[in-house]
Amino acid sequence: MHKNLNQRRRDDLYRTRRTIDGPQQPELLVDGRPMLSFCSNDYLGLANHPEVIRALQQGAGRYGVGSGSAHLISGHSHAHEELEEALAVFTGRPRALLFSTGYMANLGVVSALLGRGDQLFEDRLNHASLVDAGVLSRARMKRYQHADASSLERQLKAVGEGRRLIVTDGVFSMDGDLAPLPGLARLAAQNNAWLMVDDAHGLGVLGETGGGCTSHFGLSEKEVPILMGTLGKALGTFGAFVAGSEVLIETLIQQARPYVYTTATPPALAEATLVSLQIAREESWRRERLQKLIARFREQVAGFGLSLMASETPIQPIVAGSAGRALAWSRHLEAQGILVSAIRPPTVPEGSARLRITLSASHSDDQLERLLEVLAELPEVGE
Ligand SMILES: *Cc1c(COP(=O)(O)O)cnc(C)c1O
Repeated sequence: MHKNLNQRRRDDLYRTRRTIDGPQQPELLVDGRPMLSFCSNDYLGLANHPEVIRALQQGAGRYGVGSGSAHLISGHSHAHEELEEALAVFTGRPRALLFSTGYMANLGVVSALLGRGDQLFEDRLNHASLVDAGVLSRARMKRYQHADASSLERQLKAVGEGRRLIVTDGVFSMDGDLAPLPGLARLAAQNNAWLMVDDAHGLGVLGETGGGCTSHFGLSEKEVPILMGTLGKALGTFGAFVAGSEVLIETLIQQARPYVYTTATPPALAEATLVSLQIAREESWRRERLQKLIARFREQVAGFGLSLMASETPIQPIVAGSAGRALAWSRHLEAQGILVSAIRPPTVPEGSARLRITLSASHSDDQLERLLEVLAELPEVGE
């Protein structure tokens, strides 16, 4: 173990945690020091919304804190039921099922639907939980070129028997770009495969009322039969869900082990999410505000000679290349009071370490300007 840890340090891959005080918002207290954060996934600024906090408090008054057991024993509350119905309506799907986390939802879906002898197709840059889900399922896993429907098509042609599942992030978590969903849906239909989309970063942010990437592309349940979303990012709370047909949801209730064998999340949390969901739907100004910040950021950073990625979402990475350079940049920002994390392998491919900057509707114009000033003067660091 020692040897491994030391090697990680030498490779600039060692990870450490920071301790935050106070609520999640742009101005953070980090290890006791005030910092301006550009690395949270709280895209709509709902994690610290007074009405969401009140709903959590009132929910605790009504239900207590713990749910006491799994959903199939006595942990499934009226609040959970109501949130599932609201999420089904929100995503335009017949039903939705809550999971404790997005990681568990992904493990649960893939391992419930596939087994030995089945075929799984994943984008090369899919989230780690989707890759782990494939391993757990024991299906044969193929990874196609990033966001490349023709690469997927070649792989689909080359496979034999078994069920087929295509899985992709909707918005790629470290790159911010969108999956080519209409093309993937067409291929799924032509090749008798299911399509599953993990919309952790699109939900709340994309689509007119925040319905996510399927709403952005106008794709129905028929085209994207399995939709996964998380609640801990734009919705500002915690947890995840899968939306789809009656048969899909019943199958997951029976067979998704990360659903069956775990304690239900606190009912008060479901009450809080019901409120944040309503705010996310109704307050379109939050999405408009984000678009304004994104446009301003891209226009300015392009002028600094830094390498932006093709992203129109609040995830705006700046490519550094080596882990050492990403780390040096992140430390420089930190010294100036700005918190942005350096994303390094294995989270991203070797040679593509980056600063992962995320914008939130709760950032002020002044805060964005402060970030831009510091980015304009990033130090020269060799590759
Ligand atoms: C964050 C994330 C998850 C995991 O969701 P949690 O609720 O945090 O466990 C899954 N997929 C993607 C693409 C994510 O970004």
